[in-house]
Amino acid sequence: MAYVIAAPCVADYSCVEVCPVDCISPGPDDGQFEDAEQMFIDPDRCIDCGLCYEACPVLAIFSEDKLPEKWQPYAQINRQYFAQQQTGRTRR
Ligand code: SF4
Ligand code: SF4
Repeated sequence: MAYVIAAPCVADYSCVEVCPVDCISPGPDDGQFEDAEQMFIDPDRCIDCGLCYEACPVLAIFSEDKLPEKWQPYAQINRQYFAQQQTGRTRR
C-alpha cells in the first residue's frame, strides 16, 4: 500500500522535501520541476512512512486505502506518471 497525491495538490514541494526515499516527482533535478502542477508518488518505492501526509498544507495526500471515492482515479494517475517516465527513458 502506498500513499497517493490527489487533485488538491498545489505543487508547493513540501512533500518532496520530507520524503526519505525520494519517491515523489518531479523533484528539483527533473526538467518538469518548475512547471509542475502537481506531484506524484511512485507506489513501487513509497515505504508508507506518512511524512508527506503530515507535511502537505492542503491535505492532498492519502494512504491508498483511505483515498476518498472522488479521488480514486489518482491511484492509477500516480502510477501511470512513473510508468510513462520509465517508457521515456527506455526509448532514449
Ligand atoms: S509515505 Fe513516506 S515514502 Fe511514501 S511518498 Fe510519503 S514521504 Fe515518501
Ligand atoms: S505537500 Fe501537498 S500540495 Fe505540496 S506538493 Fe506535496 S502533495 Fe502537493
